[in-house]
Amino acid sequence: MPMKSATTHPSSQPMQTGRVEPVEIDIRNVSLSFGSTEVLKGIDLKIEPGEFFAFLGPSGSGKSTLLRAIAGFGPTPKGEILLGEQDVVGTAPWKRNVGMVFQSYALWPHMSVARNVAFGLDERRVPKAETEKRVNAALEMVGMSQYADRYPSQLSGGQQQRVALARTIVVEPRVLLLDEPLSNLDANLRVQMRQDLLKLQRRLGITTIFVTHDQEEANTICDRIAVMADGVVQQVGRPDDVYDTPANAFVANFLGTAN
Ligand code: ADP
Ligand code: MG
Repeated sequence: MPMKSATTHPSSQPMQTGRVEPVEIDIRNVSLSFGSTEVLKGIDLKIEPGEFFAFLGPSGSGKSTLLRAIAGFGPTPKGEILLGEQDVVGTAPWKRNVGMVFQSYALWPHMSVARNVAFGLDERRVPKAETEKRVNAALEMVGMSQYADRYPSQLSGGQQQRVALARTIVVEPRVLLLDEPLSNLDANLRVQMRQDLLKLQRRLGITTIFVTHDQEEANTICDRIAVMADGVVQQVGRPDDVYDTPANAFVANFLGTAN
């Protein structure tokens, strides 16, 4: 787990944490092995610009591995991963301009909320006045403006995850990748955070992939889902359609629609 945000953005253009130009993600015949074990087996998926997309599947199905491959972490896969026009396979993570939020958010404990969010901008030598503006905008978007001077240990889990989101979006990534970002939260908070996450995603208009093993979570907030098992995409579609017409016995069983 990296201690700092995995978000990368080498651009020096002024930005305002507003809407990012949405890009398509085109995953073409992507395979990946750890040693002799193939964990992604020829994945083909096209995610529309601005779409809120879910990778849904049981533990071990390859969701995180695929997400990490999009971000540029882990072994180099076979196949192509296009972000907009650019095939990013083989390029360094920090050149991809992709933002990633993990299940455990690992904020810097010795830095205030504002400093945590500013960290990625400091690294990019963004001028102080602009940093302040963008940090404020990002904190406002996640509803954490009033906590700017607090320290992570003074925040609840949900609040820490909001700060982690702010830290990721502040650098205006092209794509937002969320790996089970709500799994560490208690059930009530998780339900509320879903709606907030959806609102944030719509406001940013950013192409987003949300990884979860929780079908209700995927179904309530995502435009489309890809159901995964054993490194294979079993079905892609809108939640209602997948639920009403499961493509095979695995999907039916996993969604509990088998009868
Ligand atoms: P999910 O996120 O769907 O739970 P993962 O992508 O984490 O699944 O894992 C898919 C498969 O790849 C699992 O069988 C897992 O054990 C294996 N795997 C993941 N990461 C590694 C690794 N670094 N080394 C070896 N095997 C791994
Ligand atoms: Mg995972």
